Amino acid sequence: MSAEAETEYRRYICRVCGYIYDEAKGDPDSGLPPGTRFEDIPDDWYCPDCNVTKADFDRLQPRAEDPVEAQAAQAWRTPLADDPDAVVVVGGGMAGWAMAEELRARDPERSIRLVTGDRGDYYTKPRISTACARGVDPDDLMEESGVARAARLGVELLPHVRLLDIDRERRRLITPRGGIPYGDLVLATGASPIRLDIPGDGPPPRVVNTLDDYRALRAELQPGARVAIVGAGLVGSELADDLAAGGYSVDLIEMAERPLARLAPPELGDDLAAALAQRGVALYTGTSVACLQALPAAGEGPVASRLKLAGGETLEADVVITALGLRPNIDVAVGAGLDCGRGIRVDATLATSDPAIRALGDCAEYDGVLRPYVGTLRAQAEVIADRLAGGTARYEPDAGTVQVKTTSLPMQVCPPSAADAATGEWVLVGGDADGRRMEFHANGRLAGFALSGALTREAGPMEARLGEAVTQPEVRARMAS
Ligand SMILES: Cc1cc2nc3c(=O)[nH]c(=O)nc-3n(C[C@H](O)[C@H](O)[C@H](O)COP(=O)(O)OP(=O)(O)OC[C@H]3O[C@@H](n4cnc5c(N)ncnc54)[C@H](O)[C@@H]3O)c2cc1C
Repeated sequence: MSAEAETEYRRYICRVCGYIYDEAKGDPDSGLPPGTRFEDIPDDWYCPDCNVTKADFDRLQPRAEDPVEAQAAQAWRTPLADDPDAVVVVGGGMAGWAMAEELRARDPERSIRLVTGDRGDYYTKPRISTACARGVDPDDLMEESGVARAARLGVELLPHVRLLDIDRERRRLITPRGGIPYGDLVLATGASPIRLDIPGDGPPPRVVNTLDDYRALRAELQPGARVAIVGAGLVGSELADDLAAGGYSVDLIEMAERPLARLAPPELGDDLAAALAQRGVALYTGTSVACLQALPAAGEGPVASRLKLAGGETLEADVVITALGLRPNIDVAVGAGLDCGRGIRVDATLATSDPAIRALGDCAEYDGVLRPYVGTLRAQAEVIADRLAGGTARYEPDAGTVQVKTTSLPMQVCPPSAADAATGEWVLVGGDADGRRMEFHANGRLAGFALSGALTREAGPMEARLGEAVTQPEVRARMAS
């Protein structure tokens, strides 16, 4: 490497959430001034967006130095007309773009079209959860415009085009702008928030799932605004934590007895409830919203809401957000006769029941399970790209560890499979409310784990132990140490 190249700043990407550490910019919020080299970052630094450590970052290759990509961008000059052999990717989220990128890296020649219902601008979605507290401008969350990304990758982007149907026999997509032929089709249609039909004349609650949602939320949030969040799952808990840290007054309403009830063991859910309360979040558990009424705001401001809870409490909020989970976007796939469960069913090659159509990301279901995580879509994009380039890769799901980015109490939870969940139990192995280690034991094996606070760093070693035999005396010995 030349002396000049050595002085160039490098960029590193978090494998978990996609956050990019740019040495030129540093991470001033965490005390790393611009110009801090990655190797000089202390080992106890956490990814500002998802709390994993330095070890979970990969170096991003400088774009100009990537010969295949540069060649590809050069090869692509004009719109594809009606190339019947084109790979058409539907969806401009992280999965669709990962797909285009991986395929282009392996095949500089093949026509790639990306059709998406939105603008196709690129952003790493997990960053939305932790952006309010730091007052991140929505435009700064966008890492690259769709147009720029398409030009860089040599992809034809068709933004604002919705897929309506698939004519599988003629291999054509049906869209409001006409038919689009495909040689291979990749569905990356993602998932949409589940919406709640709450009785009353209140303004419809917001959801936070896209950059546009974040933009609309930020525009509505006045300093010190009162925010009510319905649903204390992953996204609801992370948003509540982040908004409270940003100085907003937050009510969090959850039907279950504690936050993260479907993901984390009860002990960790209770710890999180305590950490959120300490941060100033008012938590209402075991209840739901019975009615949402409009409450005219003083002056010119937006209409506020009055929420009546099933337990009888009345709350007032300037902004109401529902965070009730996501439902895969499978309507078009169902209409086209593809085999679907909760998601579009795929095999280990990521092929659907039609071998010319593959699916990945939040819309795909593999082995009966939805895996709506960034690590999953990246691994799946690699497999599809390899297959389309003539390879033999097979998708093997990772451990499925979920990072909970609540900075008041970060967690890493590797939930047991449904079969193990039915037969095993959570065992508290060590720690206290500031950081616990819990294991899920099923049939004498380690089938899952949950870590909180400083112990989240043990996720890697814990994943390596999955499947190992566990005995109660061993657990007692570890607790004693
Ligand atoms: C707030 C939040 C925080 C998160 N935090 C984490 C985290 O910490 N770690 C983690 O691993 N994961 C996290 N996730 C999940 C992760 O962000 C998703 O798994 C990932 O972004 C899904 O990408 P996708 O491309 O599959 O789907 P989407 O982002 O939903 O993209 C789908 C795309 O398809 C397009 N589309 C849909 N239907 C059609 C149609 N008929 N025609 C044309 N286009 C269509 C849409 O316009 C969109 O462009 C988080 C998610 C949220 C909402």
